[in-house]
This record gives sequence, structure tokens and C-alpha cells, in this order.
Amino acid sequence: MTRLIISCQHCAKQFPSPLQMDLDTFHALLGGNSVRCPYCEERTKCSKENMMLTCISKESA
Ligand SMILES: [Zn+2]
Repeated sequence: MTRLIISCQHCAKQFPSPLQMDLDTFHALLGGNSVRCPYCEERTKCSKENMMLTCISKESA
């Protein structure tokens, strides 16, 4: 299981992607989608610079 963490380009907070995402989707999104930051509600771009994939094998949110 992987979780996608996004760093907001506006407020710099990090939040898990609202999208359920696997690696294929992650790579597809690098084309230039955006998500809404839950903190400042600005849309922030999904790019390699501000996205991280975190593997979580044991924890569950
Ligand atoms: Zn933000």
C-alpha cells in the first residue's frame, strides 16, 4: 500500500492526496494535474517536486 503525500505550493503544508493512488496513477498524474489543499484550499499542482510516495505496509489510517 502506498500513500501519496503532497506538499502544498501555497502554504507548504503536507497532506495525503485525496485521490486513491497507485504507482501507475502517480506517474500518470505527473502530466500536470492539481489537487485542492485542505489547509488553504488553493489548488496546488502535482509534480515530482512536491509529491512523495510513502509506503505504508502495516499502518492503517
Ligand atoms: Zn495549502
